Amino acid sequence: MSVEREARHAARMARKKAVVDEAIARATQARGLLLVLTGNGKGKSSSAFGMLGRALGHGMKVAVFQFIKSDAISGEQAYFQRDPNVRWEACGAGYTWETQSRSRDIAAARTGWDKARVALADPGTGLVLLDEMTYLFKYGYVGLDEVLAVLRLRPAMQHVVITGRAAPQALVDAADTVSEIADIKHAFRAGVAAQAGIDR
Ligand code: ATP
Ligand code: MG
Repeated sequence: MSVEREARHAARMARKKAVVDEAIARATQARGLLLVLTGNGKGKSSSAFGMLGRALGHGMKVAVFQFIKSDAISGEQAYFQRDPNVRWEACGAGYTWETQSRSRDIAAARTGWDKARVALADPGTGLVLLDEMTYLFKYGYVGLDEVLAVLRLRPAMQHVVITGRAAPQALVDAADTVSEIADIKHAFRAGVAAQAGIDR
């Protein structure tokens, strides 16, 4: 690398650092956040479990409510359940197209939501994960307005993560951080079954 090129690079990095330092200095608030992970690509729930790991690493207590339950216990459930700081609730009746029973799905969703709202009032729970919750809104099992009202009243330092496709606009509006994961390609469409450690 030439001397001029080296100097130009150093000057550019110094400008960049000044901008970043300024932005960091402006970010002075600390509060509980509402995060939404949506979109058709893979990585919504697994990203949420990553934050669960972070929170646990900081000694926080966490609660997980899974609104769509599969028959087998997932790798994340098997792993996180060992931690006494984790409360894990499987609140689904199964996939709707498998159960074929709307009333059973609704009952499971309501029971799950009733448990979740208790956690959403507990200041000792630092992070609440509402996994696959967007489907409850889509099918009308639980009202979005009711959920938003409970979220507004939750403890000030409590973080909440909601996952699921097609997040409704009002949920996006209420959230602090929203990511939409795009589906570029997925191994399943090339005939690969769900792999332990990656998909389940
Ligand atoms: P993950 O739990 O892997 O982060 P996700 O939460 O983003 O996935 P879900 O819709 O909850 O996505 O689906 C969970 C399961 O479906 C996982 O096994 C995942 O690999 C698979 N899956 C997710 N997105 C796709 C897709 N676009 N095509 C095929 N399979 C998918
Ligand atoms: Mg998911």
